[in-house]
Amino acid sequence: MRLALAAVLAFFAFPAFAFELSGRFEQGGIALGRAAPGSAVRLDGRAVPVDSMGRFLLGFGQEAAAVAVLEVDGERRELAVAPRDWPVQRIDGLPPAKVTPDPAALVRIKAEAALIAERRAAISPESRFLGGLVAPADGPVSGVFGSRRILNGEPRAPHSGTDIAAPVGAPVRSVGDGVVTLAHPDMVFTGLTVMVDHGLGLQTVYAHLSRAEVSEGQRVAAGQVIGAVGASGRATGPHLHWGASWLDVRLDPETVMAVLAKK
Ligand SMILES: [Zn+2]
Repeated sequence: MRLALAAVLAFFAFPAFAFELSGRFEQGGIALGRAAPGSAVRLDGRAVPVDSMGRFLLGFGQEAAAVAVLEVDGERRELAVAPRDWPVQRIDGLPPAKVTPDPAALVRIKAEAALIAERRAAISPESRFLGGLVAPADGPVSGVFGSRRILNGEPRAPHSGTDIAAPVGAPVRSVGDGVVTLAHPDMVFTGLTVMVDHGLGLQTVYAHLSRAEVSEGQRVAAGQVIGAVGASGRATGPHLHWGASWLDVRLDPETVMAVLAKK
């Protein structure tokens, strides 16, 4: 809550600006903003969810341009978004079916992507993340967000989250207060998958689980165990893959944690 108080003080200290911002303005980053209650906020022309206190989040994707345009009740400000270098990860010698899914898998993959998009589109106007975020599992980071993957020489989608090395059965916790928006038993890529909505467009996903201990619609608290580490879906071994998104924009989970961590 210290952050919120600081934002309020800054808001009144600089009446020339109708809003205040803090966070990481870089590719994969996130920022927390505050404007007058009832403000209309847009980022690059797109409507931004705002809570009853005028708080909002801004997310910047891996491919975010160097300048983002923020509008608050028509007041326009250009935000510099710092570029990042993304590592390249080459994996060779994979079975061809792991690189190019067969037609039956493609049908499922398409349906699962649509389901995830639908759940991400349901925006909660409550800022549940304000209680602070905690780590989802104990263990070292074994895979970073944004690495560009080249499988058997063919470029594939960059890594959409953070991998944490942990054994099968280790507890997986919700990083923040929220509501479970997805508890899917078996997705092609991510296996047993749980998604949690933390409000204002921020959702987190937990993949390759061996067990889920929550169901869709259930409220969860920061640090609450929601399942267990596994290797379901297309995992090369047991680990937690966790992701963070703002609306449909994938964010770097480590950056989100750094900005919104429990103080
Ligand atoms: Zn991963």
